Amino acid sequence: MPTDDVTLSDVYAARQRIAGVALRTPLMHSPALSERAGAEVHLKLESLQNTGSFKLRGATNKLLSLSEEEKARGVITVSSGNHGRAVAYAARSLGIKATVCLAETVARNKLENIKKLGPEVVVQGKGYDEAVEHSMKIQEKSGLTYLHPFDDPVVIAGQGTVGLEIVESLPEVDSVLVPLSGGGLISGVALAMKAANPGIRVIGVTMEAAPVMYHSLKAGEIVEMEEEPTIADALPGGLGPENFYTFRMCQELLDDAVLVSEEEIAAAMAFALQEHRLVVEGGAAVGIAAAMQQRAGDLGERAAVVVSGSNVDLPLLLKIAQEHGAAN
Ligand SMILES: *Cc1c(COP(=O)(O)O)cnc(C)c1O
Repeated sequence: MPTDDVTLSDVYAARQRIAGVALRTPLMHSPALSERAGAEVHLKLESLQNTGSFKLRGATNKLLSLSEEEKARGVITVSSGNHGRAVAYAARSLGIKATVCLAETVARNKLENIKKLGPEVVVQGKGYDEAVEHSMKIQEKSGLTYLHPFDDPVVIAGQGTVGLEIVESLPEVDSVLVPLSGGGLISGVALAMKAANPGIRVIGVTMEAAPVMYHSLKAGEIVEMEEEPTIADALPGGLGPENFYTFRMCQELLDDAVLVSEEEIAAAMAFALQEHRLVVEGGAAVGIAAAMQQRAGDLGERAAVVVSGSNVDLPLLLKIAQEHGAAN
């Protein structure tokens, strides 16, 4: 294994640490998606995770790994929504003071669900990258412990527990499709699954609208892009200002990265609701979309698709379902 900033034993340690907080989620066979994808497809339902996304795994692992002094100082983080909710939830249960920074573009349902958990909330910045800048300024002034949403070995190890569960539930899995933004989720999942079987194909899936990691991987260096609006509101944002782990891990561990369009994402959300009565947010539906479009090349006999979250505005989901004839 080329990368050793995060090891398989870190992922096992994370699993033990977070066991009382994060759920082991189901891996569900989808006959309907299998038919379209031309492989046996199983959905890893992180949409059913506490707080509505896998982010609880990394956030809990990180908070539980802090020193007593760091815990006492309190934490600050930046998020497009799901990581912020996970940090707020885990911090509240541990009695740690949390500050969550969000961009003005944050989805309303995500903002409301974070506020309910009682952290300090700072909404500032025209997009995710500006929110990152604000959060770093506040951190410098306040001395709060900074909790990075993806570029942190402890967070990556926490997200890797998703991969452990997949290979345990389906040891004969040949490929995995994983939603991709900063790359914390896929780095952890790839590390855990390739440790079990280096032949497993790991494919990142992201939206066509300003996919920073996708273009950075193609270019062989981190690129900057202007953020664009997308239904996959958990996925936009850059990798910087500095990236120490996830870009390199993605370079080393990913077999491929592919894109899906806004319309393909919407169709995948409608499909999940129609076929499985599953609520899936845009950023979490990209793997389903890639499988539906057979976008990801050879999936082998058995593929797992990580369905990473459910935090979608319900009226929006119902509207999408109706537009796709999936509201019955
Ligand atoms: C954060 C998030 C992702 C992307 O995770 P990264 O670690 O940033 O690649 C995918 N889906 C959902 C629902 C998310 O909240």
